[in-house]
Amino acid sequence: MSGSTGHPSAGRQTAGGQTTGQSTADLRSDTLTRPTDAMREAMAWAPVGDDVYGEDPTILALQSQVAELLGHEDALFTPSGSMANQLGVRLHVAPGQELIADDLAHVLRAEMGAAAVLSGISARSWHANAGLLDVDAAMALAVTDGGAYQVGTSCVVVENTHNFGGGTVQPLEAMRELHRRAHERGMAVHLDGARLWNAHVATGVPLADYAACADTVSVCLSKGLGAPVGSLLVGSRAHMEQARVWRKRFGGGMRQAGILAAAGQFALEHQLERLADDHERCQRVARAVAATRGDAVDPAAVHTNILVLHVAPAGWSASDFIAATGERGVLGYAMGPEHVRFVWHLDVDDAQTDHAAAVLTDLVSQQA
Ligand SMILES: *Cc1c(COP(=O)(O)O)cnc(C)c1O
Repeated sequence: MSGSTGHPSAGRQTAGGQTTGQSTADLRSDTLTRPTDAMREAMAWAPVGDDVYGEDPTILALQSQVAELLGHEDALFTPSGSMANQLGVRLHVAPGQELIADDLAHVLRAEMGAAAVLSGISARSWHANAGLLDVDAAMALAVTDGGAYQVGTSCVVVENTHNFGGGTVQPLEAMRELHRRAHERGMAVHLDGARLWNAHVATGVPLADYAACADTVSVCLSKGLGAPVGSLLVGSRAHMEQARVWRKRFGGGMRQAGILAAAGQFALEHQLERLADDHERCQRVARAVAATRGDAVDPAAVHTNILVLHVAPAGWSASDFIAATGERGVLGYAMGPEHVRFVWHLDVDDAQTDHAAAVLTDLVSQQA
């Protein structure tokens, strides 16, 4: 292996996440970011210990930092966001009870049925346009007086920002109302905050204000923040004690994982505010596409770093459209038969954004 980062692709990253030289705009997901040299430096020299013994100082420091940022008592480092979500819902829902979430929720669609398989939890969903929280629909779906006849709803899951909804930011007022009404009926709220950082940067709403609307919150370090691995669950001290037991049971007890937590600390210090650049670049492309074809996207509905285009009106299938962008060096993801998704992140610069805008506007203006 040559070069200190060992990247297989052309285009070596600098500390600012910029790439040099001609490279493909890989907009399939913001999970694709690779650690910069500066982040690797921070990881290499992090103090570590055995975290199953609770003795990794870097993990302990990261957990305290994130708990404080989100205004909860404690936090627990996990290998993935799915595990953080699954620990969260596990705390609130007994086997045979149910959770509810909107029909595009990651916890329902992208965690491989884990709540059912690992915890005996069933699930139902309400419909949400672009993932936008509909409190009345959630409350109408919940069953809190089912007795011995109907499955009881113990937890409502809300996602902010909403991934498959297109990076949608949930209004703080709606989240507050959900929290209040769920608690009135004895239900817990779990916030899937994989991209809560993006909501915070886009709106200026403090992270703790969002997090105050939930009993437990998951956050990811490995999306736009650019760490290679890691998520956290936050909540009360008692909940985190229970979650620590279940994390071990799920196979997520890690040992000298402070080298991973150090990447998270570095990301929070150096790569949080820059999410605004991703939002600006994504918005720029949304406007360019909308100027060519107004029925493909409404730029006002593009809140953060995720661009969803409706390509069917231009005569395209999602898979053909993605094949065509890929041939021209812009990688995206087909979301169902009619929609495609492009996600901005640390490893996409202005030049790649301009290239993506040119390719996408050109393709939507062609009748396939
Ligand atoms: C990425 C993501 C997660 C966690 O996914 P992992 O791949 O398990 O880390 C959870 N929720 C949402 C909304 C996500 O986008």
